[in-house]
Amino acid sequence: MTLVKPVSAERLPDLLKRMPKAELHMHIEGSLEPELMFALTARNGLSLPYADVAALKRAYVFGNLQAFLDVYHAGTLVLRTEQDFYDMAWAYLQRAAADRVLHTEIFFDTQTHTGHGVSADTVINGLHRACVDVQQQLGVSASLILCFLRHLSEEEASEALEQAMPHLDKLVGVGLASSELGHPPEKFTRVFAKARSLGLHLVAHAGEEGPPAYIWAALDALKVERIDHGVQAMKDPALVARLARDKVPLTVCPLSNLKLRVFPSLAQHNLGAMLQAGLVATVNSDDPAYFGGYINENFAQTFAALGLTAQNAFQLASNSFEASFIDASAKRAYQDQLAELFETFE
Ligand SMILES: [Zn+2]
Repeated sequence: MTLVKPVSAERLPDLLKRMPKAELHMHIEGSLEPELMFALTARNGLSLPYADVAALKRAYVFGNLQAFLDVYHAGTLVLRTEQDFYDMAWAYLQRAAADRVLHTEIFFDTQTHTGHGVSADTVINGLHRACVDVQQQLGVSASLILCFLRHLSEEEASEALEQAMPHLDKLVGVGLASSELGHPPEKFTRVFAKARSLGLHLVAHAGEEGPPAYIWAALDALKVERIDHGVQAMKDPALVARLARDKVPLTVCPLSNLKLRVFPSLAQHNLGAMLQAGLVATVNSDDPAYFGGYINENFAQTFAALGLTAQNAFQLASNSFEASFIDASAKRAYQDQLAELFETFE
């Protein structure tokens, strides 16, 4: 492990902001800010069941994952055109660049949108164009991961994969999102096998609210390369040993966990314990428009609550690049930038 110089508690927030990092768990529909949601509503001649931005924000209090998903799906109804998807992605990518995200792997789904008459082509083309533009204009690399909605059937997931086939060159992988409890990973074994045969990378949400058994199933039945969330793994020592041994990355989202009451407070979050157990944890924002902050806000609040150190910061950022689906030379270049900042930071 690379040892880094200690950094004072006063200087640590600045280090976290300036630290190069990758974001690996962010649903683009969850980055739709209320202001843009209202702008798209007007542009598309639609209406929202909220009087104004303030009223909408008051609805952002969630008792659990399902309560959030209900509000979130209402928000996706305003997305109608390719330009809408472009504008949403562009807004996120600008924020990510400002947070020193050098690389991001963006989750999206098509099933939500095809469910109300927007084609998969419209969704993917709009998002992809924003990914191309951000590389050219801001030097951020961005790729797309198609998530299947686990509360729907495997057959419907297969249809979504089929519809995405003309766009395989625009995708880096597939994932599994939405209501976790009652929808174990093994429900999607065949569609994940198909995605793997197409050369796509595989990830899945597991162990957010669901039990460690869901993480085992994501690894063994779906054969995923990363676990999204995975905080419940800490309840199962054999699983922790497996994840550490195989260096399976976990994309942890602290503010999401707080908002959805997975932990009663950030001070009780197990991110520090995960690092101590040798797990390849990363920090991510999940649905930043709904959960109170983008990636740097997740770093700032979690470090303050848990008393994490510069050494932890380096590890988390280094993990984010290692866990990403970029090639080895790009990883090395990002790791060099990270090391340089930690060497020169005063
Ligand atoms: Zn998520």
